Amino acid sequence: MQTIASITRIVRWVCKQLNFDELLVAITIFLEVINNQRDDIKPRCNFRDNHPNYRKFTVDSLVPLIEAPLKKAVPEADFKRLLIEYRHKNGNGIKPVRRHKNSQVPPPYARCEHCNAPAVYLYVNDGRRQNQLRCKVCNTLFPSHRIRKESKTSY
Ligand SMILES: [Zn+2]
Repeated sequence: MQTIASITRIVRWVCKQLNFDELLVAITIFLEVINNQRDDIKPRCNFRDNHPNYRKFTVDSLVPLIEAPLKKAVPEADFKRLLIEYRHKNGNGIKPVRRHKNSQVPPPYARCEHCNAPAVYLYVNDGRRQNQLRCKVCNTLFPSHRIRKESKTSY
């Protein structure tokens, strides 16, 4: 950005180069430039002066995780088939879990991660914390993905 003093210096230099008639011609040319009538002479673009940070950015490096991890694994076995196989082998089937009066109950939406058995076939394996379930059908141990209550404690 030129200051008024530096522009005055440029005008003084131009005036030293030209006599009065030549200066009138120069002023005519300046007016043509101002009116955008000349394709060969354009004022310096001041976009950079007005927007010094335009397009001044860097791109972040690629994130290490590109795909979201699979949220729910596909069950490897089918609990209905496992129940039928157990009945053929042992004569009697696997009954749903009989719960004691004060025993912890798995959440009703819980399913075995290995055989997809519903909550009636699942034990809570770690007591009151209810974070770990065991399947009565296939004996798999897995996390309950229990929805925890949000704490109302402030910072
Ligand atoms: Zn299971």
